[in-house]
Amino acid sequence: MSQVKRKRKVRVKTYASLKNALDRVFSRWTRIRFADSAGMVRCVTCGAAKHWSEMQAGHFQKRHYLATRWHPENVHPQDAACNVFRSGAMAEYAAYGVNRYGMDWPARMVSLSKIPTKYTRFELQQLIEDYTKRLEHLEQTDTSVA
Ligand SMILES: [Zn+2]
Repeated sequence: MSQVKRKRKVRVKTYASLKNALDRVFSRWTRIRFADSAGMVRCVTCGAAKHWSEMQAGHFQKRHYLATRWHPENVHPQDAACNVFRSGAMAEYAAYGVNRYGMDWPARMVSLSKIPTKYTRFELQQLIEDYTKRLEHLEQTDTSVA
């Protein structure tokens, strides 16, 4: 009797796909948590108001620094004009952060971002679960989010 190889039903997610999944849920959470009851949110660097779905999640310390890539104090709603075309509008971003978190915020984010950080697949999965729960909680309390 020959053995029949069974196809694996559950595909193991790659490290890159876990990072992408975490980026997606964290970005959505970041934009929705700042939205008002109508789903409108202000760009933290120019003040333009748009629906959260038209905003981006703008990083103060850039995304390639893993230590701050998914840090709530490092990522805020920004419109594409500031996040992309003005490269993050860093001077205004620093001013916003100082106002919100205190004088030491820019230096704190810079030094935190430089800490060499490596997440395991398990840790990425935990973060995805954590932010998925936070997002569900926001969406339950905010009726404007479809
Ligand atoms: Zn802006």
